[in-house]
Amino acid sequence: MDFETALLKWYDQSKRVLPWRSDPTPYHVWLSEIMLQQTRVEAVKGYYARFLATLPTIPDLANAPEETVLKLWEGLGYYSRARNLQKAAKVLVRDYQGILPKDEKVLRTLPGIGSYTAAAIAAIAYQEKAIAMDGNLGRVYARLVGEKRVLSLPETKEAGRRYFEERLENRPGDFNQALMDLGELACLPHGYPKCEACPFVSFCVAHQAHQEIAYPVLAPTKKKKQESMTVLLFSYQGRYAIRQRPSQGLLANLYEFPHKEGIDTKAKLQEWLVKENLPYISIRSLGRYTHIFTHLTWKMVGYEIVLEKEYPQEGWLYVTPEEMKQTYAIPSAFRFYQDKIGTK
Ligand code: SF4
Repeated sequence: MDFETALLKWYDQSKRVLPWRSDPTPYHVWLSEIMLQQTRVEAVKGYYARFLATLPTIPDLANAPEETVLKLWEGLGYYSRARNLQKAAKVLVRDYQGILPKDEKVLRTLPGIGSYTAAAIAAIAYQEKAIAMDGNLGRVYARLVGEKRVLSLPETKEAGRRYFEERLENRPGDFNQALMDLGELACLPHGYPKCEACPFVSFCVAHQAHQEIAYPVLAPTKKKKQESMTVLLFSYQGRYAIRQRPSQGLLANLYEFPHKEGIDTKAKLQEWLVKENLPYISIRSLGRYTHIFTHLTWKMVGYEIVLEKEYPQEGWLYVTPEEMKQTYAIPSAFRFYQDKIGTK
């Protein structure tokens, strides 16, 4: 049995049932692939359904207020993905009658669409002979052939892409999704893969050599930068102070609780409040939380400070917990503290 036949036979028996696979229009494939970057499948399902219920078409996405798009993305993280999605939708409405082109090269000119996403849209939505090389496909390739080069190198990725392309004949969409599923279900990233369930067990180089976990070869990881902060949930008569982050940089335009540099003890915070002339009724400790971004870690400690009177600061809004949930996109880095509101 040839490579593609064996792979698709496995796929037809083992594939995952996923919402975006039941109606793989170009918009659905695009949206799901962007959401799935850096995010687990289970987490994406709810977001995907809500997003399409509110913005069912590319023109709807193009014409929506940015606040709506960010609110629908709230908690998924990597918000530049949402912004680029909308930027690309505007280009599509302006230049392509609101339809995603099927040419990979043209797709790659759109904001937020890199070679992986372009290939996924071309293959899955348009049945073009394209290979969407991501970490899953890279890992499967590296183990199949015993690839000694570092997986993240462009030449390694290109070698993997060519390897699969040469074996793709008939069903590009299923071929790509089969490899994605194989990487998720059998050729696992952590620990030992489930080779007994794999259609390639008889010729996989890593398996034959009992060296599965030696592949793929990874580049040494860089140490993440660390920042520490004290998060301040100022409340006055049931409303909480939030502010909008700057329009550039990390978590741009999202809303956050005010915070100050460093990890303050309660005593140190009390001193600061007195110095700032901020009369308060009580301070409640909300505990420590660490949020990990791709290249950065935030070490945080949080306090709820019930104020005697509203402390007006430029750009601050005092909103109810309900308004915060309904209207303002708060990144998940602050969700730990947002969830403490109303608890004892
Ligand atoms: S045989 Fe094992 S290591 Fe090789 S591709 Fe299949 S699951 Fe991965």
